[in-house]
Amino acid sequence: MPTSDTNHKRALIVGAGLVGSLWAIFLAKRGYEVSVYERRKDLRRVGYAGGRSINLAMSERGWAAVTKAGILDKIRAVAIPMHGRMMHALDGTLASQAYGKADEAIYSVSRGGLNLELLHIASEYPNIKFYFQHRCLGLDGDGSLISFENEQTGEQTTLDSPLIFGTDGAFSAVRSSLQKQPRFNFSQSYLEHGYKELHIPADENGCHVLDKNVLHIWARKSFLMIALPNSDGSFTCTLFHPFAGAEGFDALQSDEQIRSFFQKYFADAVPLMPDLLQDFKQNPTSTLVTMRCSPWQYQHRVLLMGDAAHAIVPFYGQGMNSGFEDCTILDDLAEQHADNWEVILDEFNATRIPDADAIAELAHRNFVEMRDLVGDPMFLLRKKIAARLHEKYPDSFLPVYSMISFSNTPYSVALREDDAQNQLFDQIFSLPNIAQQWESAAVDAIFERWRAAREFAHQLS
Ligand code: FAD
Repeated sequence: MPTSDTNHKRALIVGAGLVGSLWAIFLAKRGYEVSVYERRKDLRRVGYAGGRSINLAMSERGWAAVTKAGILDKIRAVAIPMHGRMMHALDGTLASQAYGKADEAIYSVSRGGLNLELLHIASEYPNIKFYFQHRCLGLDGDGSLISFENEQTGEQTTLDSPLIFGTDGAFSAVRSSLQKQPRFNFSQSYLEHGYKELHIPADENGCHVLDKNVLHIWARKSFLMIALPNSDGSFTCTLFHPFAGAEGFDALQSDEQIRSFFQKYFADAVPLMPDLLQDFKQNPTSTLVTMRCSPWQYQHRVLLMGDAAHAIVPFYGQGMNSGFEDCTILDDLAEQHADNWEVILDEFNATRIPDADAIAELAHRNFVEMRDLVGDPMFLLRKKIAARLHEKYPDSFLPVYSMISFSNTPYSVALREDDAQNQLFDQIFSLPNIAQQWESAAVDAIFERWRAAREFAHQLS
């Protein structure tokens, strides 16, 4: 139940997006008086852009965070399970593949809808106060002062707070201030691909026109389109596509160019997208960026979290999940160290940055996998072999996808596992006629040698 006993503990959060709203709930439950400053208008009043939004795949780390915050049921109610991938080949042939075991799924949630739900939940806490249309201008001095501009009146205010959390997204104003400090590291790199949102509406009965319990993928080597279900019977599609090139975004200008591009590569989807031309022309083409920085904490008073600290490309579906995991880990540390923020922030900074770097790398690797390999027979074979090894050797083999999506194993451990499993599959795929003998004793023998070598290496280290 919401509490109003604040014990004069105060914190200020910049950004009421997914991570900021959830972190406000965590802090409020710990008895903090929380002020949340957000640049946009209040979603509870204005809704989100026409009810349409990017949808996100939520997996175990996201669920773990909302469970710890005590709001699982409310979030589960707005999520649709997706048990596997459905690959759409160029000729329209379909092939499906489970993500994990029968009871494992990732969940489609609307980003706008989830944000709205979190704001509703947060507003039940009397010790959370929201200030919308307040744009952060930056930090001052030793980080104890922070300035905002009221976007309605133009009035500027400077506030002090013992704790400031920067959850203001990839282009964070809080981080921009830290970038002016000595020894602050920052890097950003853009993909040559951008993305555009498209739409598959519900049928006349409000039902989904494709299987709603899978993530649909049209992998086309240098680009791909995906579709995730919405609870109103529609799907949000995202085309990830290069900006440049003969058929790149920049070259798709006229109706005819757009129509023939989709007819050539996504012929089975075109009849399901009556507003394709309008959506394609009206919806923005957005960029995809990875941002890394360190340290995330400043003067034991300011902390970056979520995309402000670690924006990643979306191909592992882990941006929000990792931001939510930031909340779980930070709250665990606050419990462990009895709200001693000097210790908490140092420990969070030291342990969490390597994990954020690891998921950034894994997300890049998955971009290549989804784009180039998902429709490839050898990729499907690798997934089949991985599933079999997991079933046969559950204690020593967990596919990396499962480790990322269905466990809370640190991302840095998962990255090391990815390297090791890539070596294993190089050996397995060097067997002749592997497609015919993927269940053979020869595969098991390679696996046993790989496992023994790893155990030996563990003993030495
Ligand atoms: P944001 O959601 O960006 O929120 C930041 C908030 O800060 C916003 O409300 C903004 O208005 C506010 N703000 C910004 N500047 C200021 C300022 N100066 N002053 C005050 N307020 C400010 N993640 C997944 O886990 N699964 C997925 O499947 C997935 N798919 C994705 C697909 C795409 C195409 C993209 C682009 C991202 C995807 N993500 C996914 C990533 C996910 O959307 C982000 O990681 C997540 O939204 C980050 O949350 P956040 O709260 O840190 O930042």
